[in-house]
Amino acid sequence: MSLDTTTFYNVINNNLTSTTQTRHGINPATLEPNPEVPISTPKELDQAVDAAKAAFKGWSATTYAERRDAINSYADSLEANTTSLAQLLTREQGKPLSQATQELELAVYWARTLAALTIPETVLEASETRQIIHRYTPLGVVGAIVPWNYPVVLAIGKIISAVYTGNTVIIKPSPYTPYCDLKLAELAIDHFPPGVVQALSGDDELGPMMTEHAGFDKISFTGSTETGRRVMASCSKTLKRITLELGGNDAAIICDDVDIEAVVPKVAVLCFLCSGQNCMMIKRLYIHESIYDRFRERFVEFVKGFKVGAGTQPDVFIGPVQNRMQCEKARSLLATIENDNLTAVLGGSRATGYFIPPIIIDNPPETSRIVQEEPFAPILPILRWSDEADVIARANASEMGLGASVWSKDLRRARRIADQLEAGNIWVNTHFEVEPFAPFGGHKASGIGTEWGVQGLTQFCNSQTVVIKGAL
Ligand code: NAD
Repeated sequence: MSLDTTTFYNVINNNLTSTTQTRHGINPATLEPNPEVPISTPKELDQAVDAAKAAFKGWSATTYAERRDAINSYADSLEANTTSLAQLLTREQGKPLSQATQELELAVYWARTLAALTIPETVLEASETRQIIHRYTPLGVVGAIVPWNYPVVLAIGKIISAVYTGNTVIIKPSPYTPYCDLKLAELAIDHFPPGVVQALSGDDELGPMMTEHAGFDKISFTGSTETGRRVMASCSKTLKRITLELGGNDAAIICDDVDIEAVVPKVAVLCFLCSGQNCMMIKRLYIHESIYDRFRERFVEFVKGFKVGAGTQPDVFIGPVQNRMQCEKARSLLATIENDNLTAVLGGSRATGYFIPPIIIDNPPETSRIVQEEPFAPILPILRWSDEADVIARANASEMGLGASVWSKDLRRARRIADQLEAGNIWVNTHFEVEPFAPFGGHKASGIGTEWGVQGLTQFCNSQTVVIKGAL
């Protein structure tokens, strides 16, 4: 049976339930309302936490193989519903259908790959008198708080990491993009026992309610640095475990030896994918001065070719910015072009609705807001550099440290520069190349802890050391 994408419910204990009050998101391309979704109150939260706690007893006792089987059958069902979920994702998030489909495909790949990893159990000593074993045990109930830019793949990363390691999970989507996340939990009903995977939709009150609730053992949070600070403060009261995946202001350093024709298209996509609303997009592009003018000319030319429009139209690359709050942030940054006498070499004209055509700012001062802040919109500063030590210092002069890349034909030189960059994810001749088997996380104000990879999975676990006197 095909998935119904017209009605939306909370998923509590494998039941579809609604609430007295409801709300809706907005289709950012048309500004029309999307369907109604529940506004969960403390009552629904308590019900879900109670169900998650009850389910934990049985689920944590299952084997990795049993959980892997359940996850693989869930991934099959996700894959079977790629088309309708991708359409729903475009309707709620605004991203072009091709990028929405790609996100669904990534989610299926993430689910299968995470569940194929092996969590280590290490014998530290095995002697005549003693055995010492280190292992990982499940934590309990995980709250998964998800942002609006990649609601599907980020939710799947959290759901699978939690349940594969033996925990139960309650997903809280962003109020801007609740639709696909509620369907992810609905699809899980056929594959997991009641209470293992649940989802609650709500308004701005629900996130703080979760971080304050004593029934959660961990909060896995992806969102802005500002909110991350609040989440950490709130979780400290009950000493919940936390993973914080926060904002980024990634620098890319283009060296003078690159093949401009080959590099420009790759870099352009990596600056403007999802209309720049990606934590790991290139947000500061440092170009060596000896190629600056030629690179800028080709880059502007290429970006001009990106089609802007509704994600449902063919060949669109730049969809609308997702919500009004984000558009207002972008408009406030755009105002600095005039106020601070910056030069836009592309764009800068008035936006219609939530559509903002790409804007490229030519060599603004390092101290300008457009360089210092994460725009999270299709607005990019390009900057000149000449001295290696100086560009490394400028790339590192940010409170953020999510990702950074170096582009050069000379891999030794690239590696030398890359080794001095302060970020959780360093790339050479690529950017935003992430894998479910590789840990991902930020340095500095870009986060605490990692997700994905074996290391990310162990952060959904307690560390346990077992000392047994005597020989086994
Ligand atoms: P946000 O911080 O506004 O919201 C994220 C989630 O937190 C939403 O579900 C929201 O409802 C919830 N929330 C809001 N206030 C809360 C509170 N006080 N307590 C608990 N939960 C609360 O972020 P956003 O605008 O949805 O997402 C954009 C930001 O996320 C950008 O800064 C981006 O760089 C970052 N991001 C980071 C990563 C990463 O992996 N590092 C990935 C995607 C996005």
